[in-house]
Amino acid sequence: MLFSELVNFFEKIERITARSTIVDSLVSLFRKTPKEIIDKVVYLIQGEIYPDYYGLELGLGEKLTLRAISNAYGIDTYELEKLLKSFGDIGKVAEYAAKRRKQITLFKQPLTVKRVYETLEKIARTTGEKSQDTKVRLLSSLYVDASPKEAKYLTRIVLGELRLGVAEMTILDALAITFAKSIGYREEIERAYNLCSDLGEVAKVLANEGLEGIRKYKIKPGRPIRMMLAQRVENVREAALKLGKEIAAEWKYDGERFQAHKMDSKVLLFSRRLENITNQYPDAVELIRKNIKAREVIVEGEIVAINPDTGEFLPFQELMHRRRKHDIEIAVKKYPINIFLFDILYKDGESLIDKPYRERRKILEEIVEVNDKLMLSKQIVTSDLEEIEKFFLEAIEHGCEGLVLKDLEGNYRAGAREWLWIKLKKSYQSKMVEPVDLVVVGAFYGKGKRAKSYGALLVASYNREKDIFETVCKVGSGFTDADIERLPEILDKYKIDRCHPRVFSKMEADVWFEPKVVIEVIGDELTLSPVHTCCYGKVQAGSGIAIRFPRFLRYRFDKDARDATTSEEILEMYKRQLKRIEH
Ligand code: AMP
Repeated sequence: MLFSELVNFFEKIERITARSTIVDSLVSLFRKTPKEIIDKVVYLIQGEIYPDYYGLELGLGEKLTLRAISNAYGIDTYELEKLLKSFGDIGKVAEYAAKRRKQITLFKQPLTVKRVYETLEKIARTTGEKSQDTKVRLLSSLYVDASPKEAKYLTRIVLGELRLGVAEMTILDALAITFAKSIGYREEIERAYNLCSDLGEVAKVLANEGLEGIRKYKIKPGRPIRMMLAQRVENVREAALKLGKEIAAEWKYDGERFQAHKMDSKVLLFSRRLENITNQYPDAVELIRKNIKAREVIVEGEIVAINPDTGEFLPFQELMHRRRKHDIEIAVKKYPINIFLFDILYKDGESLIDKPYRERRKILEEIVEVNDKLMLSKQIVTSDLEEIEKFFLEAIEHGCEGLVLKDLEGNYRAGAREWLWIKLKKSYQSKMVEPVDLVVVGAFYGKGKRAKSYGALLVASYNREKDIFETVCKVGSGFTDADIERLPEILDKYKIDRCHPRVFSKMEADVWFEPKVVIEVIGDELTLSPVHTCCYGKVQAGSGIAIRFPRFLRYRFDKDARDATTSEEILEMYKRQLKRIEH
């Protein structure tokens, strides 16, 4: 197949945006493509020569490319650089230079796709001393035989600037129509793609073995599986509705997701975007090699940066120090990590992705020898929402982002974001970053387990100016069973028969108290509410400021009611929060 055919396709695609027309053009291109090079054509359409996870780059920047153009066409690099400044597009520079070539070639060979691809592959594989010269020479040999249009697109491919904008799913559609005769088979083809993350491979199997080959397609260690993602919810209750009775709640570590492929003593690590990150984490590679008792496995987990002195978790950004090509050993020492494994997808020849999570986790527990650096994600299995809320706070206190709640009966859905994993993150939950100290002014009777005590407390901030207490929220969560049991003992001695005269409340509590007991509360955010009286009318007529989704943290017996957070302070927090949102 001539490279010019591919280039004509590129040119056409650049001018169209309608998806159906792109699919049609792809189909006619695929029909013309010999089976032997269908994978290569698919990579080139994506402006690549390998799937992303290969991690092999051409290693040619703008400078070297200009040198190759200069060598091929006998135009000085200085002049080419000037052209680049005025065109702003190196592809156009190559096209222009090819038209003006000063070097006349006597025996021009038309470029074929195979030759272009193989030469680019050679360029990628050339390493070591003098490799730059070799790379330039190889690229130059292609320019010599290229037409101006071919030179333009070749340059864009080399520099990773092709950007035709053909989505992976569009390519899958076209493959389905070309090789399976109907778009109806798209899903089955996509399944194979999710297992290998390699469109070229999918195209090759389809072209050579048809739909049968695709249906039989299996996980191959060494090729990353497209990762399962989580849906998000605002609170635990919402998650529980989606997940059913028993939930596996796990800490959501603030680190880098990885998929590790262990093949005997060889270990490869892939990032969430399926890039090969093996070289960044030689320590993780060692931990996985030594502490997983299976010959071949694919496991997933999170790499978390650790404070070397205290062992505490550090935020995700700290892992950026590992993104370097040189001196990785120094970075390994200076920026240590822990690994938390949370899933297993494959073990010794057997795919595990169709097994329920309950079973996968059990297998993981059986084969991982944990130590102080390699652990399983912290997990509880429960149907008690309050227990999950407590676990959420615990996770946050330890520097995690929140929780991932998982369906215990769910399989591993490669490449999908479904309701089998649900994330509950602090960033959606706590725009309110600081806890506040509030005074208990009333209470509501509990139900069920809390029938003998109170189910929620009405709490207030202190208005220093007026020397009164203004309600901000009803707190019903964050209490342990023991906390709940103690409530009457702590509060009943301050019981009064109506709302205290120095308490301003628009709510009718079941029981009123003298403003004495102070508790620490954290919430998700501050909002305006017509039922609460804190800073009433100060932000908006007819509204006060209230705390959304408040949670009890602890008693503050050391504080007097007048030491509570003031209404003014809450107003300040509200304004700060607004500023953050506006940014
Ligand atoms: P998202 O990527 O936004 O869909 O959120 C899920 C992400 O949470 C995953 O990609 C992981 O990087 C991360 N994560 C942290 N801890 C866990 C865990 N225990 N289970 C699953 N994902 C986790």
